[in-house]
Amino acid sequence: MSTTATPFTAAVLGSPRIGPNRELKRAVEKYWAGRIDRGELEAVAAGLRRETWRALTAAGLDSVPVNTFSYYDQVLDTAVLLGALPSRVAVIPDELDRYFAAARGTDVIAPLEMTKWFDTNYHYLVPEIGPEITFALNPAKVLAELEEAAAHNIPARPVVIGPITFLALSKAGNGAPIDRLDELVGVYAELLELLADNGAQWVQLDEPVLVTDILDNGAELAERTYARLAGLAHRPALFAATYFGELADVLPALARTPVEAIGVDLVAGRAAAVAAVPELADKLVVAGVVDGRNVWRTDLEAALGSLDALSECAGRVAVSTSCSTLHVPYSLGAEPQLDDALRSWLAFGSEKVTEVVVLARGLKDGPDAIAAEVAASNGAIASRKNDPRLDNGEIRARISSIRASGAERGPADARRAAQNDRLRLPSLPTTTIGSYPQTSAIRLARADLRAGRIDAAEYERRMRAEIADVIKLQEQLGLDVLVHGEPERNDMVQYFAEQLDGFFATQNGWVQSYGSRCVRPPILYGDVARPKPMTVVWITYAQSLTDKPVKGMLTGPVTILAWSFVRDDQPLADTAAQVALAIRDETVDLQAAGIAIIQVDEPALRELLPLRSTDQGAYIEWAVEAFRLATSGVADATQIHTHLCYSEFGEVIGAIADIDADVTSIEAARSHMEVLGDLNTAGFANSVGPGVYDIHSPRIPGVDEIASSLREALKAVPAERLWVNPDCGLKTRTTDEVTESLKHLVAAAAEVRGSESGPRSG
Ligand code: GLN
Ligand code: ZN
Repeated sequence: MSTTATPFTAAVLGSPRIGPNRELKRAVEKYWAGRIDRGELEAVAAGLRRETWRALTAAGLDSVPVNTFSYYDQVLDTAVLLGALPSRVAVIPDELDRYFAAARGTDVIAPLEMTKWFDTNYHYLVPEIGPEITFALNPAKVLAELEEAAAHNIPARPVVIGPITFLALSKAGNGAPIDRLDELVGVYAELLELLADNGAQWVQLDEPVLVTDILDNGAELAERTYARLAGLAHRPALFAATYFGELADVLPALARTPVEAIGVDLVAGRAAAVAAVPELADKLVVAGVVDGRNVWRTDLEAALGSLDALSECAGRVAVSTSCSTLHVPYSLGAEPQLDDALRSWLAFGSEKVTEVVVLARGLKDGPDAIAAEVAASNGAIASRKNDPRLDNGEIRARISSIRASGAERGPADARRAAQNDRLRLPSLPTTTIGSYPQTSAIRLARADLRAGRIDAAEYERRMRAEIADVIKLQEQLGLDVLVHGEPERNDMVQYFAEQLDGFFATQNGWVQSYGSRCVRPPILYGDVARPKPMTVVWITYAQSLTDKPVKGMLTGPVTILAWSFVRDDQPLADTAAQVALAIRDETVDLQAAGIAIIQVDEPALRELLPLRSTDQGAYIEWAVEAFRLATSGVADATQIHTHLCYSEFGEVIGAIADIDADVTSIEAARSHMEVLGDLNTAGFANSVGPGVYDIHSPRIPGVDEIASSLREALKAVPAERLWVNPDCGLKTRTTDEVTESLKHLVAAAAEVRGSESGPRSG
């Protein structure tokens, strides 16, 4: 066993990789478009790696993660490393083409499925471990990065997703991928020997799945796997990293194995729970006290307290981020518009590295050695606590009074009757989810406005023209409930954040969402208030152009939270209620302006579900409360819609019934019958629009296909509760695709309506 490796003292588990100015995004997209060649792409990648390592070393880290660079996704990289690509892509001879084909598909090959990385807004590619897969080590990438780092004298620590997490996040043709753990561990053993031969002192194996309830025997698997890997005669020192939650019984199990280091997330978990594990007495505990996934400055004094507590029980303690800083922007330096107070409360990627180094110094040399830094941290905390923007008494009082009077609407039946009376829609009403294609004209108008080439009035004129086009198109198509098309929205969260008090919308705070796609989550730092209506002018303009009802479009409180960096000084439930109040005020204003239907989108409802099942009930409770608070200010005759877009909503199906929207449109990847059956079982009795075609694909669905899926849905839901709509917004499609598809959708609805008997009943 390797005991010669020097323990490190200051580390990050991983870092952003898209480039401070999204250089990687640009290079990869140019490469896909054939505008640069492979050599140019590789040069950009190597430059970004070098600069990342240089910055981490210069800041004072004594162990630097490598193999954390990725052209697309670290889970896909791991699948490649383990020879675990499905045969449909494995046949592509060229390595890079094969990689991008697995990620994005080709004309003839379907890509791997994509899903959320735990409870973050990062998406990974789901490995498919079919029976045809024979694991085989393919270490070229990790060895190349290790060698590259060695050439720059970097104290490199290769990072690889661990075997338990890799398999737990994969899917299989039949059986559970985790059944192949022992076989896969053999490949990891080979990898460890090879990394030792190539000079790696330390290797980090990431096992975040161990903080979840995904596996019911996590402790046993962890002990068996790491006993075997750490029992190898020839290997680097092993660092088993975990993050996003507490390990509970897995921690002593891991600590009983001979791994040298264990990483714990002390932002999501408690130091006391770690300090209570005597088995850590000879381990290096890598203490994730600096939040790797949110943007707040670390309370250095509190963090030092945790580190001291750990020093009592652990063999040694190193300081680190709680997880990879992949989830936060590069640097505060790129945000000139921050006011001094707000800036002093924040830490992005590079500031977090500095915090890690400072804390490591404090741990080694005592608190006096970092007195100035601690004083600055305390000053920032005091400034944040006392800032009036964090305590808006009027908002807090209004929430209490709405809660006290019960944020409830009238009975669903009475609402349905009032709405049918007012709207007089045909049975099987047709509608869309909100957005229409974001055309190049729309993007150009936004760019022109930002660059000052046009003024606000000209921008508004162009947006109105877009809305008029979309309304005309929908009238021609014969849809029943129209939308304005959302041309004015850059993003369904940022659009609202820019107009609400309590949010800061960053200029350059990009983080990777998936592949080359980056998002800029706004920072929700204070009490949320709505100075003025946010959507009313656009919706009422759209309504003025047609006699058909136009549906107002809002984003729901849970989704706004999920896609922002949220304040950490109060419960999420309280923050959600404040956002909900702003949305509620908007619904009331839309109603007053004559809008009869309002949709409050909650596509992220499933995403914020806590990783541990014991925490899920409380989450569902506040999420449902927030939605009801947002939507219970309107009259019975105003119809509330919601839209949810994920296909596996098993755990939140009860919430879908409880939020009590009049109409719910959902992405239904599984058969409609199954989804609707599940909803029925959960007691859902309102109207539902199971998406009848997949907007994520350019394929135009046929009339017969849509009609037969409607007939299928009608077996589970009576006609008076069934709506007809695509499965998500249309913004990523072309106008031609949308026109054809919707033509078929309207025709299919008419056909099925004709074959159903009688008019729409109450
Ligand atoms: N109303 C939004 C749209 O149509 C919903 C987007 C979403 O579901 N993510 O684009
Ligand atoms: Zn959607």
